[in-house]
Amino acid sequence: MSGINVGTIARRVHAGAAMVFVLVGAIGPVLADDRAIFVTSPGQPLNVGDAMLAATAYHDSGAYDRDLALVARQAGQWIAERAPSARRPALVLDVDDTSLSNWEVIVRDDFGRPIGGPCDLALDAPCGWAAWDQLGRDPAILPTLQVFQQARALGVTVFFITGRPESQRQATERNLAAMGYAGYEKLYAVPEGARFSSVTDFKAPIRAEIEQAGFTIIANMGDQPSDLLGGHAERMFLLPNPFYRVP
Ligand SMILES: [Mg+2]
Repeated sequence: MSGINVGTIARRVHAGAAMVFVLVGAIGPVLADDRAIFVTSPGQPLNVGDAMLAATAYHDSGAYDRDLALVARQAGQWIAERAPSARRPALVLDVDDTSLSNWEVIVRDDFGRPIGGPCDLALDAPCGWAAWDQLGRDPAILPTLQVFQQARALGVTVFFITGRPESQRQATERNLAAMGYAGYEKLYAVPEGARFSSVTDFKAPIRAEIEQAGFTIIANMGDQPSDLLGGHAERMFLLPNPFYRVP
């Protein structure tokens, strides 16, 4: 590694046999290997291609699964500790990449997130997420399913709050049931045509509504900060998701 002079912070990740430099933050000279130093412009944001390689390596190495389990275990511990003393304890869960995994379509779409467009699994082609969701073929995020089952066994009421629209309710509920999410109280979906600049503006008022109905939301679990911001939960658990951002 002599001769490498990375301006600020660089993380090396293994992507298969290749070593990839993931440049974090603005750097001076961009360094591709220990022989080449390029003259280039400073202040570039993270290269999205490098970010995709890093995210893929994170997923495929098993680190993603380990981190999911790490966060979910802490949620489970908290729920076990708190549920017995809480008045009508409730757990709130997000759906996409909290309860169900979209990894297959994330890879198919090369980390893009088109909402519209068809989804033909017979083709080697991207899928629109809306069409993908209607297929209802997402596998469970297993650590979350375990938290769900533990919560139900402790008498905790479970609510799903999803950013998916009402038009996807049937497919989503079928998918959740097929993956073992049985016995939840209600799934909240976005009313058809409603638009929010942040999903927080949709989700936080629903949690307030759940509280007003007499529940104590002891835990809220999501994969996006926007699932969790806005209060109305005793503890918030953020699962890892370096694959996309939902404002
Ligand atoms: Mg999500």
